[in-house]
Amino acid sequence: MRLPCPYCGERDISEFVYRGDATVKRPDADDPDAARAFHEFVHLRTNPAGWHFEHWYHESGCRAWIVVERNTLTHAVRGAVAASAFRRKVGEVGA
Ligand SMILES: [Zn+2]
Repeated sequence: MRLPCPYCGERDISEFVYRGDATVKRPDADDPDAARAFHEFVHLRTNPAGWHFEHWYHESGCRAWIVVERNTLTHAVRGAVAASAFRRKVGEVGA
């Protein structure tokens, strides 16, 4: 599989490290219910079948965090953007 890094162009997946779902928001540590929220954030994830936004780190390239839209059933990739641009676009999710 190849991923389209917005800075380097299309590269082999072996250059990247997968982080996970780009649509979940990290809980606020100051929230009184933070322990439950972090448990859900870390351990209770969905397993989507179909199109999904994922965080990837281009470790062997530009070392940038990117968000890739990938189909989990077919591994087809629609595109990728810088993670910071994705957060601005969808309202700070995945921070
Ligand atoms: Zn890159």
